Amino acid sequence: MSYLIIDKVTKKFDGTVVLNEISLAVERGELVTLLGPSGCGKSTLLRCIAGLNEVDGGRILLNDRDITYLAPRKRGVGMVFQSYALFPNMTVYENIAFGLKMQGLKGDRIAARVREMIDLVGLAGKEGSYPRELSGGQQQRVALARSMIVEPDVLLLDEPFNALDAKIRKTLQMELKNIQKKSGMTMIFVTHDQEEALTISDRIFVINEGRVAQSGKPLEIYSQPANEFVARFIGNFN
Ligand code: ADP
Ligand code: MG
Repeated sequence: MSYLIIDKVTKKFDGTVVLNEISLAVERGELVTLLGPSGCGKSTLLRCIAGLNEVDGGRILLNDRDITYLAPRKRGVGMVFQSYALFPNMTVYENIAFGLKMQGLKGDRIAARVREMIDLVGLAGKEGSYPRELSGGQQQRVALARSMIVEPDVLLLDEPFNALDAKIRKTLQMELKNIQKKSGMTMIFVTHDQEEALTISDRIFVINEGRVAQSGKPLEIYSQPANEFVARFIGNFN
């Protein structure tokens, strides 16, 4: 059985169907991308997985548990957003340590874990800095470390690099891929950027109007689009 299973999930807002019996499965340790145009339902699906939106139908299974109706904090799901949402009055160290403190871990164990995480995301030397003293790219590294340190079963990333300029964005794409491989964490990355999806993903799910239009490895999606929507969307680089 797959590690994460989205089984015919439907979500409506005011009677409008946004997720239309969408089904997909993710294996443990994969980095998959949900790729699709603005408004196709990517964020809504992530919010359903995280428990921030209640579904109107279907099931969500994660790591052998039915999490469809669990409270968000009991799901083992982490999330990174486009806006970094760091604690402005806490240092890099404190921001990253926060989740472990909440779990009641002792100081010396926290220190060791934070050190590892800071190395993993390339923030060594920035421990004592405050978010306002960091670049956008550095802030997003802190956000990533802060979400990863509590070791969620799955980490959801909703267009995390959108606010960054093109060069930093490229760097972070490659780094995220490395970090993900090193950590073995299962990740679902959302983007509307075809090139970004082709660069970082193990597999891509192309989403159109609340359904999966095609899924496959990047090269497969790129060279063998299954239908006109995918062909147009993938072909349409900006
Ligand atoms: P994407 O992330 O792919 O751009 P979203 O999941 O944010 O798309 O939105 C999909 C559709 O659902 C859009 O038409 C959007 O307006 C609508 N939608 C999202 N959230 C809400 C909400 N809380 N209330 C009403 N409509 C919403
Ligand atoms: Mg979105």
